[in-house]
Amino acid sequence: MAGTPLDDVSRLAYLQAMDIDVWVQRTPQVKPGLRQEVAAPQSSLADQWTTLQEQVASCEQCELCATRTQTVFGSGNQQADWMFIGEAPGQSEDEQGLPFVGRAGQLLTEMIRALGFAREQVYIANVLKCRPPGNRDPKADEVTACRAYLQQQIDLVQPKMILAVGRIAAQNLLQTQEPLAKLRGKIHQWGEKPVIVIYHPAYLLRSPLEKRKAWQDLQFALKAFRDK
Ligand code: URA
Repeated sequence: MAGTPLDDVSRLAYLQAMDIDVWVQRTPQVKPGLRQEVAAPQSSLADQWTTLQEQVASCEQCELCATRTQTVFGSGNQQADWMFIGEAPGQSEDEQGLPFVGRAGQLLTEMIRALGFAREQVYIANVLKCRPPGNRDPKADEVTACRAYLQQQIDLVQPKMILAVGRIAAQNLLQTQEPLAKLRGKIHQWGEKPVIVIYHPAYLLRSPLEKRKAWQDLQFALKAFRDK
């Protein structure tokens, strides 16, 4: 026996009989066919989306949390090439918790179709995640408080093209006071990402004669996307 190494089972039995705590290294359970990094990722994209969505849902960084029914996070394809960013939820969006679901939203869906996509293929979000009472314009401190959420959404989606929907979204995204007439028809930047400004569908519902210009803007965006 002397000099013969004990097998693990006997060694454990001896140590336990002697009342000695035994520390056993756990072998990680790796699912068959999966490499271990895949089975236990640091923080998956899905986790990052969930965390961000939870942060937005419980946000109290500005006064809009007191009047909202619920936050409106964003919706659509989380790996979309095209990301549409509007101004803020209106009444229908506040009620349903989804962006662009009212009358203007229906027209936006048509505009997306005109580009050749289904609504589910693009990602839709707003500069503000909460409805301003009476649909008033967003205040500067509200935009500042919400900006990091939008930045994270853009970082997660990694769109190839951002469409700023309407003057207010465009001015806040691009941090300019230029009127929409001067902003449309140009390629702007959000970091590295190209941004193109289009008419807000609510404006087009009020001014249907401008739909021809709106169509030109969509054509311009398509060309910019293809020429990239
Ligand atoms: N207008 C916007 O800018 N965003 C919405 O979600 C709805 C209407």
